[in-house]
Order: sequence, then structure tokens, then C-alpha cells
Amino acid sequence: MSIISKDIQKAITLLTNEELVAIPTETVYGLAGNIFSEKAIKCIFKTKKRPFFNPLIVHISSVDVLETIVSEVPKKAKILAKHFWPGAMTLVLKKHKDIPDIITAGKDTVAVRVPNHPVTITLLNQLPFPLAAPSANPFNNISPTKPAHVERYFKNDIKMVLDGGSCKNGIESTIIGFEDDEPIIYRLGALALEDIEAVIGAVRIKNKKEENPDAPGMLDKHYSPLTRTILTSSITKEIKKYPNKKIGILTFNTSFKSDAISYEIILSKNKDLQEAASKLYDALHELDHLNLDVIIAEKLPETGLGNSMNDRLQRAAFSN
Ligand code: AMP
Ligand code: MG
Repeated sequence: MSIISKDIQKAITLLTNEELVAIPTETVYGLAGNIFSEKAIKCIFKTKKRPFFNPLIVHISSVDVLETIVSEVPKKAKILAKHFWPGAMTLVLKKHKDIPDIITAGKDTVAVRVPNHPVTITLLNQLPFPLAAPSANPFNNISPTKPAHVERYFKNDIKMVLDGGSCKNGIESTIIGFEDDEPIIYRLGALALEDIEAVIGAVRIKNKKEENPDAPGMLDKHYSPLTRTILTSSITKEIKKYPNKKIGILTFNTSFKSDAISYEIILSKNKDLQEAASKLYDALHELDHLNLDVIIAEKLPETGLGNSMNDRLQRAAFSN
């Protein structure tokens, strides 16, 4: 029997009983549990096979609850919250003393956001506790943007995926931390850098593992298909390197007619970066299930969400 259901009441019962439920958000599906239940939180790490050094994002129903999660809110964080919540932006702030260490990987900061999805906001409004919810995929795999993706990963591990349709943004939230009250982007994501800078001015980016001990989950290899994946600016050149191989290609807007290609997915014929982002992970899931020898992905334009998508594709393509 399918674990996918629209029954919010059932989700409330499971979460109240310290069990996990996969929840829809506008970014990707999350694997959610009560932040104050040690049992539920340990189960999140175990189910995902996520290492304990990688902290979780706390999801709250509205900015009004923020003071129960964090102890300080810098001025620019207040402005950002007002502007972009509910939305695809996570703030990393000094934690409230009641936030358990297992959520923050022992750090004195906590990551928090208000998701912009009506089903999950309704759910959060009816729960007396916030939800910790990392992406609902095994550690390092491709994030889920549809209920069926989660079901494929976890049908034997969890009892329910709360069905909220396909994720509109389709890529993880943008994470912003603060160092001496100055905002720093720890992870590029569904909210474009340009939109953030329009509100608070220039922001530094620190999204590489080496430069960022403050965001312990930023790994070189992440978001990966099992199939070998390559990121390139020239599909035509790259194809020639794999004669007699089964090649799948992922392109922004152009079709590459060639007998060398077994399968092609075009992300947005209209060159719309938002549309491309919403389809990116679904396309990777699809390509990864075709028994290809190699997936060749085309680098996206280096602007707005194109940068966020290139970041994910670079990590998908990373090989030691
Ligand atoms: P995910 O839940 O899979 O979207 O990943 C959450 C990411 O948020 C982690 O991998 C970290 O990079 C980041 N994060 C969560 N909590 C913190 C924190 N307290 N400080 C810095 N980064 C954090
Ligand atoms: Mg994740």
C-alpha cells in the first residue's frame, strides 16, 4: 500500500507520537520530526544515514515563534525575515537555550525557516512543537521534489508522506548566517543572491567546504545520482569523449540532436531559470533510473538561480 496521503490529521498523530512524516515544502520534501523528541530526531539521522556533524533546519509556522528558537536576531536578519518569510531562506542565528544539541550538531547556532507551503503551514499551526526537517533523501542522494521520490527512498522506513504535490521551487533553501552581525551566504539556493542583495546590499558567499567550518554540511560531493555525472559548458565536446556509451543529457533550453545520445531532458525551452530549478532534481531522478553509463549536464547561465543550480550540479559531479 502507498504511504502517500493527504491526511493532515494522520500526520499530526504520527508526529505527536514521536514518529517521522515526510512533508511538502516549496523547496524540497523534508523528513520531519518533533525538535524536542530525542527519539524522533535520532530516527531522522538513522533513516537518512546522515552523520551527526550535519545539523538540521528547524521549520516554524511564522516569524512570531522565532524568539522560542533563537536568542538574538541581528538587524539585517529581522529585515530578511520580514521580506522573505514564508519562503526559501534559512537563517542561522544564535540558538535559544532550549534547542537540543543534536539539532545543531553541538553548535551555538541554529538554522531556522518558515516554509511557504499551505499544507505544511496548516500542519505547523496545529502542532505544539516545531519540526526539524532535512531533505527526505538518503545522505548525499538527490533531494526529492515529488511524493513518489520520497516513497521510493523510504517506503520501508516511514509510515507517511504528506502529499502536497510537486515542489514549486525544487531546490533547497538559501542559507544565510551572521558573522559579527554581517550576513554571509552559507548555501546558494532557491532564493537568488540578487534578490537578497536588493534588500540588504552586498553579501559575502562562503559555500565551499574549506572556507566554511561554520556550515558543517557543505560537502564537495552531495546531491548525487548513482550514475556518473559530468558538468560541462560544451555538451557537443563532452559527448565525443564517450563513444559507444549510453549517454543521457540534461540541457538548459537547447536540444542536441545526435545519435550518440540515448536520452535528453530539456529543463526550460523558454530559458526560464525558475522553471529549470523546479525540474532539475526530477530530471536527475529520471536520468538516474535509465541505466545510463553517464549523465552529461550542461552548465546553466551564471546568474540568479543558475548559480544555485550550478552549485548543486558541481556537487553531483564531484569525484575524488
Ligand atoms: P538540509 O537539511 O539537508 O537542507 O541541510 C541543512 C544544512 O543546513 C546543513 O547541511 C548545514 O550546511 C546547514 N546548517 C544547519 N544548521 C546549521 C548551523 N547551526 N550552522 C551552520 N549551518 C547549518
Ligand atoms: Mg539535504
